Amino acid sequence: MPEDQPHSPVVDAVSRVPLGQFVAGAFRTGGGAVRAVRCPSDGSFLAHVEDAVASDLDEAVAAASAAQRAWADMGPVARGVALKSAAARIRDSAEELALIDALDSGNPLQGMRFDIGLGATLMEYFAGLTAEAKGETIPQPGNKLTFVTREPMGVVARIVPFNHPALFAIAKLAAPLAAGNAVILKPSEETPLSALRVADLIGDLFPKGLIAVLTGGADIGAAICAHPGIAAVGLIGSVPTGRAVMRGSAETLKQTQLELGGKNALVICEDADVGRAIAGAVKGMNLGWTAGQSCGSTSRVLVHESHYDTVVAGIAAAFDAVRLGRPEEEGTEMGCLSTEAQYRKVQGFIGRAQQAGARMAAGGPPEGVPAEGFFVRPTLFCDVAADAEIAREEVFGPVLTVLPWRDEAEMLDIVNGLDVGLTASVWTRDLDGAMRLTRRIEAGYVWVNDTSDHYLGAPFGGVKQSGIGREECLGEMLAYTETKTVTIVSQA
Ligand code: NAD
Repeated sequence: MPEDQPHSPVVDAVSRVPLGQFVAGAFRTGGGAVRAVRCPSDGSFLAHVEDAVASDLDEAVAAASAAQRAWADMGPVARGVALKSAAARIRDSAEELALIDALDSGNPLQGMRFDIGLGATLMEYFAGLTAEAKGETIPQPGNKLTFVTREPMGVVARIVPFNHPALFAIAKLAAPLAAGNAVILKPSEETPLSALRVADLIGDLFPKGLIAVLTGGADIGAAICAHPGIAAVGLIGSVPTGRAVMRGSAETLKQTQLELGGKNALVICEDADVGRAIAGAVKGMNLGWTAGQSCGSTSRVLVHESHYDTVVAGIAAAFDAVRLGRPEEEGTEMGCLSTEAQYRKVQGFIGRAQQAGARMAAGGPPEGVPAEGFFVRPTLFCDVAADAEIAREEVFGPVLTVLPWRDEAEMLDIVNGLDVGLTASVWTRDLDGAMRLTRRIEAGYVWVNDTSDHYLGAPFGGVKQSGIGREECLGEMLAYTETKTVTIVSQA
């Protein structure tokens, strides 16, 4: 669609997005290459956004560094008040931000409303934790005092993906800010709009330059990792990008927090309530939230063989009933994939699975949605070998694979047989079995008779190559602090 025919709701929502880098408290343009941001549901033009260049980064770091000391010195109460005010402004603009994300990411409005509320809740949560960046004392003889304080690291960066644009922009600023740091935020080049609007909405609540938003892709991401003025980088993204961030941060020995991908297992035991397990497996795909483009999606179901046919039929019926639609329309149950690259990647996985002989129990061409949009029907594969690509690789889309199991030890070998381990879900009525499986499953987060939901304060993150560190909890804030040990000897 031509660039002079913007999508109609854009006029209201996207026209308020300042299009430039947010550096030193103001938006600026004139630097790098220009990208056309398009609506993935129909290809319509949304906005032109420039990539940040090295001088934007240098100036952002300098301004952030100058603002950070004042911010840290304000103390925990004043920092908490500013963060709560920021959360309030975000709540006041929730509808606008949700619409921007729906248009930019293809996720349905209802899911993006949830995201804005969750982002504001996480910001309020960290606002309440500012005084928890505390230390300890070490026993000493009477004339000596040794204590440990926690200090902010300085300027830190957070690099986020395309699937929850505003949620990650809001929530990932919160923890390092609460600890007294300045933050350089880099949204995905695919979905940059809501992060810019968030900076516009809340930037003046903080010392000028304390937060910066730099748009662009891998180049500016790599420059952030290499920048000597940045103390730490937190990435939410794919496993290969996690490796690149670690390599890129090595020269300056930055601390890295990595929240990466997964191929999360949902295990249905012989004694499970099968109806609930089927509903849990459907919910666990996060179709209505992100069309399955969620790191935590439980995208491989391992069902006891006694329930295999029932579970395949039950999930297929639920998938067939999902109503696809334009993301900005009320009543849409599932939107489209967020980017053309992701769409092609998902189609590639589906095509190769079919060629390899997997049976597609649900899926096929979408109907009643714009042909230019990146829509993929919820797709279910069964009769798949455990070592097939579709059963082992993160698809990051609405594609679920079902595998039968008979022997618990063999099932655990399949569950744990991957390099990643983010989430898992177990469906059983047997407490002992649940305890045993939660201990043995290699994942950072395990639900029993539940899936998908995150709980405030409950650490979220992965083991193995799913990442390093935990988020949405006190540990996330403490990860952006350094301890300092002080010994004082009394001369009295
Ligand atoms: P991605 O890894 O392609 O990109 C993530 C971010 O990293 C983007 O901002 C991108 O511009 C930037 N980037 C790319 N190359 C870089 C480099 N060399 N140096 C620095 N930055 C670089 O991921 P994506 O496709 O946007 O998102 C999908 C992935 O994110 C999936 O693998 C998914 O599982 C993962 N994810 C993980 C979590 C979690 O909490 N564990 C949450 C959401 C998404």
